[in-house]
Amino acid sequence: MASPVAAQAGKLLRHLALRPRLLAARSQTPIFLPVCMKIFPFTGPLCIILLPCVLRSLKLPTYCVHLRTNYRTSSLTSLCLFLWSLFLEVTSCLKAVQLTPRRWLNLQEYQSKKLMSDNGVKVQRFFVADTANEALEAAKKLNAKEIVLKAQILAGGRGKGVFSSGLKGGVHLTKDPKVVGQLAKQMIGYNLATKQTPKEGVKVNKVMVAEALDISRETYLAILMDRASNGPVLVGSPQGGVDIEEVAATNPELIFKEQIDIIEGIKDSQAQRMAENLGFLGPLKNQAADQIKKLYNLFLKIDATQVEVNPFGETPEGQVVCFDAKINFDDNAEFRQKDIFAMDDKSENEPIENEAARYDLKYIGLDGNIACFVNGAGLAMATCDIIFLNGGKPANFLDLGGGVKESQVYQAFKLLTADPKVEAILVNIFGGIVNCAIIANGITKACRELELKVPLVVRLEGTNVHEAQNILNNSGLPITSAVDLEDAAKKAVASVTKK
Ligand code: GDP
Ligand code: MN
Repeated sequence: MASPVAAQAGKLLRHLALRPRLLAARSQTPIFLPVCMKIFPFTGPLCIILLPCVLRSLKLPTYCVHLRTNYRTSSLTSLCLFLWSLFLEVTSCLKAVQLTPRRWLNLQEYQSKKLMSDNGVKVQRFFVADTANEALEAAKKLNAKEIVLKAQILAGGRGKGVFSSGLKGGVHLTKDPKVVGQLAKQMIGYNLATKQTPKEGVKVNKVMVAEALDISRETYLAILMDRASNGPVLVGSPQGGVDIEEVAATNPELIFKEQIDIIEGIKDSQAQRMAENLGFLGPLKNQAADQIKKLYNLFLKIDATQVEVNPFGETPEGQVVCFDAKINFDDNAEFRQKDIFAMDDKSENEPIENEAARYDLKYIGLDGNIACFVNGAGLAMATCDIIFLNGGKPANFLDLGGGVKESQVYQAFKLLTADPKVEAILVNIFGGIVNCAIIANGITKACRELELKVPLVVRLEGTNVHEAQNILNNSGLPITSAVDLEDAAKKAVASVTKK
């Protein structure tokens, strides 16, 4: 069955960026590093402590396989070294578990294109403007035969979007710089609604003014992390430009994939095959393959989880050009991609989303009246779906992620109940990493301090669930427990329809 939420709320998809990911595969390849203790014959105790630390600072895994065979080093030294390495590795793994990502960084098209052009990928010449006047000046400066003006928002489908000013289309072609100024006036400061934005659209703060090129053919190209193959995959279609989801649904044979071995990198043959599948002929095939390789290398270099180019086009002059760009990043890589993360543009978030982010929570507002408190994007989608299927409507959801503190639960309840539409709260937490008892303590504390007025249905499952249930049952608070997700959704929907 199609997911009713997925069908209804493009916004959800936009924020969740539910792309399969390969958890830090780049840095966690388990290399068994042979450490020959013979090298350190006299410094046994010192190297026990230092060697694993040095390895860690070099970002190498510290499991050690000892090739200690003969003289000098005692097996005790060797064992200690191994145990110390193991300790460091385990603590770092635990830390990694705590660092579950909250939100994947999304950049505007102009920012993505800058990264692309800096890395040899072919994009059009462009300027960015904040005002209509700047757009006009930029158009003059470009001195191009034709100009394309594009609204910058973090959503696709702009071409077919509509502005709150009444202007149709977030992408316009014109030969006259004056028209660029007039159009920009109807874009900047207005909301642009597309298939991927909320109904009311997203405010446009910037426009991109670029040299337009004729397009003789539009193809689709993306590089994603793919859970099925545990690595990156190239996805392409000769039918680009239009909705790729539609092509996938109606002509699945026109979607081509190439799995890439992340260690070996992209092979020439793979890039060539994709170029051919995309329909690039003659000298264009090599050019396209070269662009594909450059895009893949960029994908790796910047720790992207997604690079999507639609259209990946061809001009009558025989150029392969990336006409559009959408890049998402792995939040776990923030520490080594500081420049990129510094570009994060939070202006499109609702204030409550930013407030949630301050507590490491992810908040998404929706239209209904049941607040959902969940952990994990997948469970959030499932919870919203089940509410829909039982005749209710989610008001919002708040994703708690992993590594939870009691104070976060309190903040979460505060945010959830701040929305006046909320008539009931459904808590659906699966305690894998999360300890249910911490959630239960957080819930009871929040209920008391916030003097919760709306019905609360709680479904907890997993780690420490019995203790959690005792905490809730003994709290004396009017909390309805549910045995499973279905039961929880039914009870939550019933609690709002009763009124
Ligand atoms: P999106 O609608 O948000 O995906 O925005 P795009 O950047 O993909 O632009 C939408 C459409 O406008 C593309 O599919 C192209 O058909 C067209 N377009 C964009 N840039 C150019 C250009 O430089 N020249 C021409 N001829 N068409 C363009
Ligand atoms: Mn596009």
